[in-house]
Amino acid sequence: MSSTAPVFRFAPSPNGRLHLGHAYSALLNADFAARFEGRLLLRIEDIDMARCRPAFEAAIYEDLAWLGLRWEQPVRRQSEHFPFYREAAARLNRKNVLYPCFCTRKEVADAVAHREAAAAVPWPRDPDGAPLYPGTCRSLALHEVEGRVAAGEPHTLRIHMPAAQSCITRPLTYGRFSRDGEIETIPVNPARWGDTVIVRKDIPTSYHLSVVTDDAFQGITHVVRGQDLEAATDLHVLLQFLLDLPTALYHHHGLVLDPGGDKLSKSRQSEALTDLRARGITAAALRQRLGF
Ligand code: GLU
Repeated sequence: MSSTAPVFRFAPSPNGRLHLGHAYSALLNADFAARFEGRLLLRIEDIDMARCRPAFEAAIYEDLAWLGLRWEQPVRRQSEHFPFYREAAARLNRKNVLYPCFCTRKEVADAVAHREAAAAVPWPRDPDGAPLYPGTCRSLALHEVEGRVAAGEPHTLRIHMPAAQSCITRPLTYGRFSRDGEIETIPVNPARWGDTVIVRKDIPTSYHLSVVTDDAFQGITHVVRGQDLEAATDLHVLLQFLLDLPTALYHHHGLVLDPGGDKLSKSRQSEALTDLRARGITAAALRQRLGF
């Protein structure tokens, strides 16, 4: 296989057991990798150390092997790379596109409720339905910010969206690829995420920062993931621009729904692959059920 072969990755989080939706995403990655004569990597997205468990990670390997998948070694485990993400955050910081935010979730919710009551119209929401950050900490005086940071007050780092946008020197887009290899150019609109959190309070990174820096570090050329992450790609393309990283090609697949038409989720205890296995369902039957 040539060194220019496409590189795919499946990137689950070990914060619960994998369900049919994960199986679909993993199988689709493998299917694309085979079709495009590419490589398949596995990445364990375990930055949320309060929710991730070694037992869930072990189950991921078992489930994927049971499905008949093969992936390259070593597997990149995000929790082992916090200094790498910290360095990326420092690069963004040097561009003056991040600012410390001391607000608690409740303070943000209260500020939004207050503004909604005053304006009598709904406060704008991000694509996931969360209210945009109302900017409380954006305009704090520098000496106050420095004092609170120096005193060790917990804070996130948020992207200053207007400052970030003022750095943009070309139209930001990504290529959406399909099964037959066609590529469509998709313009992005990261501003719809507002001043979102780039570095969390509890850990020196966020999903967005880790995924963008790891995809570039691992040389991922083709990202195959669920439609629930399609809107986040706008933000990822912005971060790639700011960090001078390449933008991969993306394919966001439809989600596997439960019989009631809802999205499967670990938190809603959707039936796990381990349960299906225990019920005697074969990997071949499951692949067929998912259309492979
Ligand atoms: N770790 C994410 C998840 O479990 C997927 C991230 C991605 O594919 O970009 O949903």
